[in-house]
Order: sequence, then structure tokens, then C-alpha cells
Amino acid sequence: MLTRRRFLQTVSAAAALWPAAAVLHSPSARGNAAALRLSWRPYELRLRHAFGVAGNTRSSTQGVQVQLEYEGVTGYGEASMPPYLGESAASVMEFLGRVDLTPFRDPFRIEEILDYVDRIAENNAAAKAAVDIALHDLVGKLLGQPWYRIWGLSPEKTPSTFYTIGIDTPEKVIEKTKEAPAFPILKVKVGRTPDEDREMIRAIRAVTDRPIAVDANQGWQEKSMALDMIGWLSEQGCVLVEQPMSKHSPDQIAWITERSPLPIIADESLQRLWDIPALSGVFSGINIKLMKCTGMREAKKMITAARLLGMKVMIGCMTETSCAISAAAQLSPAADWADLDGNLLIANDNFKGVQVSETGKLLLPEEPGIGAVPKDSGV
Ligand code: MG
Repeated sequence: MLTRRRFLQTVSAAAALWPAAAVLHSPSARGNAAALRLSWRPYELRLRHAFGVAGNTRSSTQGVQVQLEYEGVTGYGEASMPPYLGESAASVMEFLGRVDLTPFRDPFRIEEILDYVDRIAENNAAAKAAVDIALHDLVGKLLGQPWYRIWGLSPEKTPSTFYTIGIDTPEKVIEKTKEAPAFPILKVKVGRTPDEDREMIRAIRAVTDRPIAVDANQGWQEKSMALDMIGWLSEQGCVLVEQPMSKHSPDQIAWITERSPLPIIADESLQRLWDIPALSGVFSGINIKLMKCTGMREAKKMITAARLLGMKVMIGCMTETSCAISAAAQLSPAADWADLDGNLLIANDNFKGVQVSETGKLLLPEEPGIGAVPKDSGV
């Protein structure tokens, strides 16, 4: 039973986190004992640097942060919307308004609850991920354990995260590379013309000989040109190539993968679990992102599916706070690579969670759930 004292503690904790000016929605908050109470607010993520990829440049990303409360315990979650996936803060909040968790009295029924959330609408992956992350955080807290332990993963097996450098002028790229922390692998956005891409890599090579993971974001137009570029990138100390060509060109990508000296990783070609079988033989591995695949529950299943097919696994992210990044990091001991620097690229991260060592290794917190706490909660 939710006692009056516990209820007041919950309300005052929520008030400390959610500024009075923020619009707080909570359609399922009816004061019921042992009810799952979902609430949310928009939160705009401001980037430290304007961020360029093949196709667009942006300086902020829309987000929505959610809370899921149950018997005085609060789970936190987050949706982050890059413009290209068709979700917005408004569409996420519209979706969340349709989520009615009042029939569910047991938060441990994760499969049943998230199956229901998934069936509400066909898309809305980021909105679904926000609920998924908050539910995992809540259940981990009720169990008193972080998810890497619940899943049986070894925290010392976390990879080092990549550090991403967006498309920019050579001068800016040199400046950003000098500023970059001493992580073992830099991730570089390419996918423009061969001359522009070579110029970008040469600018980085003028400053460092660290390994580079390149992401073409579907930018290369022709398979022979892409393979030539990959051969050159291999000689430049690159270690993998993400999404060399359009997701609508699987045959050309398979041709490249068969001949490539570097692993070819699917990102835009992949969204959810059921996309994976068709990628076997087309790509060497997959980049799993919580905001694309509806969250931690499905991401875990995707790792199993990829391993079954002999594929490599990268855990990636959008621009996110330490809330969603910490949730993704719980899975990272099971991945070959982690590209989880989204929180390091924003200026207004309002969560404290997974840390990185000086060499970029992900350090999982011992806190239960997703291991992230709001910075202004006094925790
Ligand atoms: Mg990518």
C-alpha cells in the first residue's frame, strides 16, 4: 500500500526534479495504491558543437524525459528524437498520452507491459524506448540491482566508447580532434565526395594516428567508389565502416562487404529485431540503438539474434543524456564496440550515470536499475 507519508515523499522528490514551470502530464495518476504512474516533460538537448552528418547539421535535439512511479520508487527514462526518424517531442507526448498502465499492477511483468506499449502504434520507437527504459530502471531499483548484473554480464568487459567528430571544415576538424579526449577510437562522419572525405581523414591524421571508425550515413552513391574509399581508409588506420550506402541498396552493400578489408556495420538499414535476418550476408555486424529498437528489452534480444547469425555488435546512441546512455551501457559488456558518447556531446546533461575513464572505457555504476540519477535530486 502507498502510505500517505510515502506518497508525500514521492511528490516532494518529483517536485525537486521537475521544475514548477515544466508542463507535467500524468493521465494515469489517479492516486491508486500500487499503480504504475507515468509522467513526462519535454527537454531540449543543446549540443556543445553544431553536429554535421551527411544530409544535415543541427545544434540541438528534441527530447522528452519520463518518470514511472510505483509504490514510492521512481524509474527514469528518455526519448531523444533526431529529425530523420519522424518523431518529435509532440509526437512522443501524444503517444505517451495513449499509454494507460493502470491495468498493470506488477511492474515485473516487463514482457506483458512492453508488448502492450508496442501494440499501441506501429512506429514511435523513441517514445516506446522512454517507457522501456523507465520500466527497467524501476524494476532494477525494486530488485536493488543494476541491469548488467540481472543479465549476468561482467562489468569489466565494457568496451571503450568511440568519440564522434562530425563533418566540418578541415580547420574545425583539427580543432575538434585536438579537443577530443584520449579515447582509443575516434568515430568520424564521412559520406560526401571522395575528395571531401579524404580531406577530413587527412585533417585528423595531421593531429593523431589513433584508429578511426568511419560512418558514411548512407552517403556513398556507387559501390566501386565506396570499395575504393574503404581500401584507402583501411590504409589510413580505420577499423570499421558504418552504413556505406543507402539502406535501399542491400545488394550493393553485400558486394562491398564481401570484398571489404574492414567490417561493414548496419545502422540505417536496421531498426528492430525482425530486420536482422535479412542483414545476414549483407553486413558484418549491426549497430543497435535503444531509440530505434524500442529499448532495452528488444536490444538484448537483438544481440542474441546477431550472435546466432555470427554478426558483430555495436551499441550506439542518439544525442541523449546520461539517462538513456546509462541504460544502453548496461548492455555494452555484450558488445564488440560501444558508440555511447551522446551525453558527452551535450551541454545540458541533467543526469549522472555511466562514467568513462581517461581512455574511454565505460565504467558502469553500481546503482540499481539503469544506474542514472537526476543531477538535481540530491542523491
Ligand atoms: Mg551511424
